[in-house]
Amino acid sequence: MEFNLFTFVFLFAILTSVLALLWLNFRQDKAINNSYNAVPEGFSESIKLEDHQKAGNYTKAKLLLNHFEIIFSTAVLLVWTLGGAMNSLDSYWKLRILDNDALMGTVFVLSIMLIASLIDLPFSIYRTFVLEHKFGFNRMTIKTFIGDFFIDIAQGLIFMVPLIYAVLYLMDLKAITDFWWIYVWILFSFFILTMMWIYPTFIATWKNKFKPLENEALRSRITDLLDRTGFKSDGIYVMDGSKRSSHGNAYFTGIGKNKRIVFFDTLLKGMEDKEIEAILAHELGHFHHKHTQKRMISSFILSFASLALLGFLINQTWFYNGLGISQPSSHTALVLFSLALPVFSFFIRPFNNLSSRKHEFQADAFAASHTDANDLISSLIKLYKENSSSLSPDKYYSAFHDSHPSAVLRIERLQ
Ligand SMILES: [Zn+2]
Repeated sequence: MEFNLFTFVFLFAILTSVLALLWLNFRQDKAINNSYNAVPEGFSESIKLEDHQKAGNYTKAKLLLNHFEIIFSTAVLLVWTLGGAMNSLDSYWKLRILDNDALMGTVFVLSIMLIASLIDLPFSIYRTFVLEHKFGFNRMTIKTFIGDFFIDIAQGLIFMVPLIYAVLYLMDLKAITDFWWIYVWILFSFFILTMMWIYPTFIATWKNKFKPLENEALRSRITDLLDRTGFKSDGIYVMDGSKRSSHGNAYFTGIGKNKRIVFFDTLLKGMEDKEIEAILAHELGHFHHKHTQKRMISSFILSFASLALLGFLINQTWFYNGLGISQPSSHTALVLFSLALPVFSFFIRPFNNLSSRKHEFQADAFAASHTDANDLISSLIKLYKENSSSLSPDKYYSAFHDSHPSAVLRIERLQ
């Protein structure tokens, strides 16, 4: 194997991103320590010191786990690439699957995905049964955990195998056309849209049960709000989130006529009807401002640019050799690209979050104009308290990691 200049560029990007991530974690840890002994201003009436400190301890425990994850996943990435593991796996399958490149490539990609999910398993077990359990959030039984693991594998096989096979088949057209990556982009975009379309009714139902919202008084409040804002959906559903965790949430899913509003049962518990209405109004704000479409369009533009880049890299021997692969092929290019891209795109994350946070403010403003702003404020405080979210995050940490503005900022604006 001959490493080259690109190897050093790659190593430099990894080193920079790892150091940046660890530095941000330390900053966040310090911010938590600094505010540990007093509830931030404006929250002292609604949040007890005890709850504030629990949120601090919870955040610190998650940060500690994240330190290990950062270092471990970097080591794994290096073993796959420069360590030669991917190259060995490639040779292994090449000797066994001879006359079908796309099939061989699919098996190669799947084995990497399977190994990666096995490597991640101990972290996931620790997070669920030690960390979340310690703070009283875990509701997952071992049976549910194992069930989820196999559901993920089954869904991966059903949806990913045909997709990977088709992508690799199209990539092999590189022998006859330089524009194979446009075909891949069309296929990929079509796949994403289909998944969004079938997600609420087909995919999400594998793991959770969805029931139409029963509470009559709340229903009529919500129908009223939907009429006022001109929103049409396939219905309002309650999901059994309590099967896995006591964290609460609400979301809005699907596209076209297949749109659903979903409340976690854990969110409904403990919220007043008017607070739930305010949360829903926030979600409708995203719909009103067409945030889903905007994000979708920007992700299609981004994937177009990424695939164009892959279209260039696939013909460069230095790309393969620099990342520890001796024999260029479509499947190794695909995997190398998806492993290396996040290392480089790490640095654009704050910009992505910036636009997402702008959307959150817009949705909040929409909610405030259609419901009482005070209801949204009190529901946000309850959410932060129930989820033990930190009220005083470090601003740089937040810029890199948070797609939502901090509670303090959101409430300030609402007031
Ligand atoms: Zn939102």
